[in-house]
Amino acid sequence: MTAARPEADAGPVVVRVDRDRCIGSGMCALSAPGSLALGDDGLAEPVADYADGGAELTEALAEAVDFCPVEALTLYSADGGYRIAPAD
Ligand code: SF4
Repeated sequence: MTAARPEADAGPVVVRVDRDRCIGSGMCALSAPGSLALGDDGLAEPVADYADGGAELTEALAEAVDFCPVEALTLYSADGGYRIAPAD
């Protein structure tokens, strides 16, 4: 898996949760609480979405995407909408 690493010129990002894959382990919410939280249904939810303009790509968020045990997290550019990580 290709890791997403914060870059100095990286714009805002949006993390999407594949709710069919998420098993509610909570690892992402623990490691990147500013970016992800567990919802009332026990599955992960992004803190910021496109409507919010996205959020900064932090090291913690990049690691959360990398380490989700079921690869339920995907990073997109909040500006261009293109996929950043994991690589296709
Ligand atoms: S780490 Fe993955 S499986 Fe665990 S709560 Fe987050 S998105 Fe769901």
